[in-house]
Amino acid sequence: MSEQYDVVVIGGGPAGYVAAIRAAQGGLKTLCVDRFKTKDDEYALGGTCLNVGCIPSKALLDSSKHYEQMTQHYDVHGISFKDAAIHVGTMIGRKDKIVKQLTGGIKQLFKANKVSYIAGSGKLLKDRQVEISNEEGQQTVSGKHIILASGSVPVSIPNVEVDNKYILDNTGGLNIEEVPKKLGVIGAGVIGLEMGSVWRRVGSDVTIFEAMDTFLGACDQGIAKVAAREFKKQGLDIHLSTFVKSAEVKNNQVEVVYEKDGEKHTETFDKLLVAVGRKAETEGLLSDDCGVELTERGQIDVNDNCQTSVENVWAVGDVVRGPMLAHKGSEEGSAVVERILGEHGHIDFNTIPWVIYTEPELAWVGKTEEQLKEAGIPYKIGTFPFAANGRALAMNEPTGMVKLLAHEESDELLGAHIFGAGASELISECVVTMEFRGCAEDLARIVHAHPTLSEAVFEAAMSVDKRAVHKAN
Ligand code: NAD
Repeated sequence: MSEQYDVVVIGGGPAGYVAAIRAAQGGLKTLCVDRFKTKDDEYALGGTCLNVGCIPSKALLDSSKHYEQMTQHYDVHGISFKDAAIHVGTMIGRKDKIVKQLTGGIKQLFKANKVSYIAGSGKLLKDRQVEISNEEGQQTVSGKHIILASGSVPVSIPNVEVDNKYILDNTGGLNIEEVPKKLGVIGAGVIGLEMGSVWRRVGSDVTIFEAMDTFLGACDQGIAKVAAREFKKQGLDIHLSTFVKSAEVKNNQVEVVYEKDGEKHTETFDKLLVAVGRKAETEGLLSDDCGVELTERGQIDVNDNCQTSVENVWAVGDVVRGPMLAHKGSEEGSAVVERILGEHGHIDFNTIPWVIYTEPELAWVGKTEEQLKEAGIPYKIGTFPFAANGRALAMNEPTGMVKLLAHEESDELLGAHIFGAGASELISECVVTMEFRGCAEDLARIVHAHPTLSEAVFEAAMSVDKRAVHKAN
C-alpha cells in the first residue's frame, strides 16, 4: 500500500510551500514534493520566486542601487569617493547567500510544522495517486487532497535560442559574471525593466526591445508615461513597436535582428536577455488518465475556488489563470487549505497589488483610469507629486507621483497608482483601504506621521476632493 497523506502538494514555491505549511498547521498530514535544482545541482525549496526570481533579483537591485547612489547621487550630500568599483562576483555571491538562507529556511519551517518533504518530480496519476521520481528511484503516495502548484517557466520565442551564456533567460540574467558592455533585452515587462536596471546601474549600455506600441500596457497610462520618461532619462533605451525576429551568437557576441516600422535592423550585443513572459509549467505533471483538464493556453483549468476537473484536486499559483505573482499564489494556497478544512478561503483579485522594483518603484492596485473609462464608471482623480513631499526631498528622491482613483459619487477607492520612492510599501495602505471598501476620504482622515513618504498618499487622497495642502489643487 502506498503511503497515504491528507494533502500532497506538488511544487514548493510560494504557492505550494505556503499551502503545505498552512495544511500542516490545520492538523493535516501533509507532503510537499519539489524537483527544483540549483546551478550546483542541489534540490532546493522556494520555486522560481526564491531561487531565480523575486528574491535574487531584489538582492541585485539593491546592490546595484547602492553602487549607482554612490557613483551618481552621493555628491549632493557632500560625500565623495575615490576609486568606486563594482565587484560583480561579490554582488552575485551575496545574492546566492540570501537565496540559500531563505530556501534553507523553508526546509526548517517544514520541519517545525511537520510537513514531509520529498525532493523529486511528482506526477499525478488517477485516483489522487502521486508518483515521485528522483535519483533514488520511484515511489507512489496517495492524498485525500492534491494541490498542484508546479509554477511557470519562461516563454521562448522562435529563432532565439537561450544558451544561458550569451542569450539568457531569467536564470542566466541573474548570474552574469562581468558587466556586459552592451546588453540587449527582449521585452519591456517586469523582468526586462528590473534586470535591465540592474545591469545599467553597474555600467551596461542597455537597449530594450518591446513588441507592443504601449509601454507597460497593464499599468495606468498616466503613470506609465511618467515612468517611461524617467527610465529614458536614466539611460534605458526602450524601443516600442519593435519585434525581435532572431538572435544568433557570432564571435562571442549576439547578433539581434529586429523589425521596426516595417524595416529590418541588425544590432550586436555582448549579452541578450530574453524576458518575453512566462507560461504554466505542466511538463511531466499529469498522467493521461488523471482527469485534470488544461485550458487552451495550457494552464490547469480551475474554477474561482481553484478546484480542477477532478474532485479534491486543486491547483494554485502560476500554473492557473490570473497574474503570475508570488503573493497571488501564496494566497490561493492558503485559501485552498481553508476550503479543505471546511472554512471559507477567499481572494479578491481586484485587490492584488503589483510592484515593479525599478528606481523609483512602480506599484499599483485596482483599476487604471483606462479601465474605468472603458467600463463607464464615473471617477475622480487625486494626485500628489513626490517633489512636494518633505521626506522625499530630504532623501533626494523627488521623482514620481501618487495617483488615486475614487468613484465619482460614492468616493470608494477604486485604484491606486504610485511611481516613487517606497512605492512597494506605500501601496499596502491603499490595498487595505480597498479591502475594507474604504473611500478616498477615509484615507484622507487617517493621521499620517510626518515627515513620511506616506504623506504623498495622504495628500493624493485629499486632492481627490481638491483639499491637498501642499500643492495647488
Ligand atoms: P511580461 O509579460 O511582464 O513582459 C514581457 C514583454 O515582452 C511584453 O511586454 C511583451 O509584449 C514583450 N514581447 C514578447 N515577445 C516579444 C518579441 N518577440 N519582441 C519584443 N518584445 C516582445 O513578462 P516577464 O517580464 O518575462 O515576466 C514574466 C512574469 O514574471 C510576469 O508575469 C510577471 O508577473 C512575473 N514577475 C513579476 C515580478 C514582480 O512582481 N516584480 C518580477 C519579475 C517577474
